[in-house]
Amino acid sequence: MSTSSTSAQSQHAVRMVLLGAPASGKGTQGATLASSLGIPKISTGDMLRAARDAGTELGQLADGIMAAGKLVPDDLVIRLVDGRLSEPDTQSGFILDGFPRTVPQAEALDRLLEGRSVKLNAALHIDLPRELLMERATLRRTDVRTGQIYHLKYNPPPDSAELVHRDDDREETVRKRLDAYDTMTAALVPYYKGKKILRHVDGVGTPREVGERIRRAIDELVSAGASSGASASRGAAARGGADGD
Ligand code: AMP
Repeated sequence: MSTSSTSAQSQHAVRMVLLGAPASGKGTQGATLASSLGIPKISTGDMLRAARDAGTELGQLADGIMAAGKLVPDDLVIRLVDGRLSEPDTQSGFILDGFPRTVPQAEALDRLLEGRSVKLNAALHIDLPRELLMERATLRRTDVRTGQIYHLKYNPPPDSAELVHRDDDREETVRKRLDAYDTMTAALVPYYKGKKILRHVDGVGTPREVGERIRRAIDELVSAGASSGASASRGAAARGGADGD
């Protein structure tokens, strides 16, 4: 990242939602971005799994729902996110991964942030053709001993790897997860487009190429948000800000 964009980011906290289908690279991109911006990545899936492993009341409740591949009720995840956003490390910004998944969650998030006198300033959607998502997910293999993830075509494992094919990555399951994701984005994309903070980023390419596109989009969105804050009455954000499709 350039020096000027780094300093722009230190002045303007990045508060973003990252949208991307299973196998879109969202997890990798979110982690890289969070560490380069020095802000936390908040994944409701990770938090729910941690609650489940710790055996908390919430974790026990979420366990069966997650195992069935269904959505945990909105009020539970909203409470979880509310608690996490109260932690001091989120004051310098955050990346939300896996939340919101529904419009009521998106609305609740806006209210939670309003209560803290801040706003989301970016919603990034990593876009990939469905065939590529299918290929990426179904050829993914995990080395059980190291946890390292390989791809039989793009990142072949060494002979020594002890590979498993996660249930999540089997064709029928992937198809279902992609369908569920399409339903979710069909609602969330217009929601964030209406707020002028949505950007679609082409997810085809190396992780580095995609990462650079994401950083450019964030720089533009965050500086547009900052200038709209300074001149909201002139409608600067709508003209200079994010596009939709
Ligand atoms: P993920 O790791 O984001 O794929 O999430 C794993 C599971 O946790 C999902 O299949 C849901 O059961 C649950 N989950 C995670 N985030 C949410 C959310 N925002 N709303 C409802 N359920 C969620």
